[in-house]
Amino acid sequence: MIHQRDVIGRLPVYKPGRPAAPGAVKLSSNENPFPPLPSVVDAVVAGLDGIQRYPDLGAAELTRRLAEHYDVDPGEIALGAGSVEVAGQLIHASAGDGDEVIFAWRSFEAYPILVQVAGATPVPVPLTADERHDLDAMAAAITPRTRLVFVCNPNNPTGATVTAEELTAFLAKVPAEVLVVVDEAYVHFDDDPRSANGLEFFRNHPNVAVLHTFSKAYGLAGLRVGYAIAPAAVAANLRRVGVPFAVSDLAQRAAIASLDAESELELRIREIVAERQRVTAALRDGGWRLVDSFGNFLWLRTGDDTERVDGVLHAHGVVARAFAGEGVRVTIGSPEANDRFLAAAADALATAPVAAPVG
Ligand SMILES: *Cc1c(COP(=O)(O)O)cnc(C)c1O
Repeated sequence: MIHQRDVIGRLPVYKPGRPAAPGAVKLSSNENPFPPLPSVVDAVVAGLDGIQRYPDLGAAELTRRLAEHYDVDPGEIALGAGSVEVAGQLIHASAGDGDEVIFAWRSFEAYPILVQVAGATPVPVPLTADERHDLDAMAAAITPRTRLVFVCNPNNPTGATVTAEELTAFLAKVPAEVLVVVDEAYVHFDDDPRSANGLEFFRNHPNVAVLHTFSKAYGLAGLRVGYAIAPAAVAANLRRVGVPFAVSDLAQRAAIASLDAESELELRIREIVAERQRVTAALRDGGWRLVDSFGNFLWLRTGDDTERVDGVLHAHGVVARAFAGEGVRVTIGSPEANDRFLAAAADALATAPVAAPVG
């Protein structure tokens, strides 16, 4: 037998959203329903005749643009091939063998995998009954071995936010040596006025970092680009840990073109948020109970009924993300896809009472 780390063989393989069969709608990966903007496509095409070369390792232009945009120092930005890669960098830079990384659960399913790949110990802390981070319990879970805490706001898959007030109280209990990472993959869809603004916390707390991605609101999931805004010393370490040249030149160009097209993208984001509100209201009218979501997805806490509900959705050609025994996450798609989901959800309720106790 070839020597391999035992922990790796026991890890689940990251499960992507199921692909859609022909004719079905894919609402399983929180992707953007809009095609890329023509200006973004043009920027990528313009880069194609340079792909024999390595990209700019430091992504200087994109870094400069992001620094301007958020009014931070370029040295406080670290890029990666999607924010999932940057989350991995943060873990590798902070936590090794025997160190602990705290996160809410259920939350982004990459966290426990990335933590164990780094040899560190995941410390999942159950969500509250209303699907929110239990920050008191997360603070109580801190030990001398804690190196990192992920706060996912809004939380994937429940869509619940962490309020500024809650995060302030939490940070008061976190030792200054422990880094708190606010994962804001869905921040553009978050219109909860009470929600914590990660950038403000970054500016006011020396141990806070923020994770952003171009994958969701900006529709670049296939090109892989995300970044952390982090204390300069941490960001410098992320650049040491990161895979060299992971962010392609095409991804850098697309990200810059997306920053140039912010107002166009903002209109799309507003349409997705309006659809989220419409679908939420229609579900509630139909008898579903669910918490408000501030991402581009909804969460149905279907418990033991999850597989049956997922089966009904599937029969209607709706591919969602089911977590057995827990619930179903459904991405907000085009209005037509959402209508299809609503019809399927109504059917699922009509055929059996669903245990959806929350909301
Ligand atoms: C989708 C997602 C990410 C990262 O996506 P990338 O495509 O790797 O940028 C990070 N965090 C959360 C919570 C997500 O849902």
